[in-house]
Amino acid sequence: MELKELYQEIILDHGKNPRNKGKCDKFNKDAKAHNPLCGDKVHIYLKLNKDKKVENLSFEGEGCAISLASASILTDVIKGKDFFTAKKITNEFLNVIKDEKIISTDTLNEDQKTSIMSLSGVKEFPMRVKCATMAWHTFISALEGDNKNE
Ligand code: ZN
Repeated sequence: MELKELYQEIILDHGKNPRNKGKCDKFNKDAKAHNPLCGDKVHIYLKLNKDKKVENLSFEGEGCAISLASASILTDVIKGKDFFTAKKITNEFLNVIKDEKIISTDTLNEDQKTSIMSLSGVKEFPMRVKCATMAWHTFISALEGDNKNE
């Protein structure tokens, strides 16, 4: 299978069977965003625990396949990571989308790296870059925002 086909399959799979969809239990941070160009909406929920670990992470959203797959992949690879690692992975992801970089962080397994790289195809379609990055920017807003319910 060609890499491009593999990437397409991953995106289709996450789009059809999104991971961590819905409000997660006892979330204490959230943020949402809307991309009027495409009609994508995303709402990120997360629980940052006392050890500054992203104990739980989920999303609600609607929109194009890329935006849903991106949010699903985000929750899949970030859940369970600590605050700084989560930020580092997000920055690396955004660099991957911008440039020709390869994800290099050692906190992800090969499957997770491949999932992230599957979104890198949007580089060829500037209109779709926002579809792929919105969930990640929203995640950072939530992560760095004020705690709720505490
Ligand atoms: Zn979109």
